Amino acid sequence: MKVICVKCQTELRIAEGGIGVAVVEMAFDPPAPYKVWMADLLECPGCGMQVAGNFGSGPIAAHAEAAQTMLADILRIGKATIVYDYERPQTQAQPEPELPF
Ligand SMILES: [Zn+2]
Repeated sequence: MKVICVKCQTELRIAEGGIGVAVVEMAFDPPAPYKVWMADLLECPGCGMQVAGNFGSGPIAAHAEAAQTMLADILRIGKATIVYDYERPQTQAQPEPELPF
């Protein structure tokens, strides 16, 4: 899918050295991991705005328990960039979610 920066009027590109990002979809109250997806980190070459896009056709973890296990593995390996996807806009940086392990 083509993604265009409206401000710079140019197409976003896969970020330098991009090996993809893990997108952790958050649900529940308080928020907890619900699904995990792989996606590309796209970046505007003009203003540097970054978005997660080009999602895989399905999540790599599709329910809460699997998502928590997957997130724990990703954090333990420590190489992937993690993007959290909350149900509502986050106006300030969120602490790492509390995990039951
Ligand atoms: Zn831009």
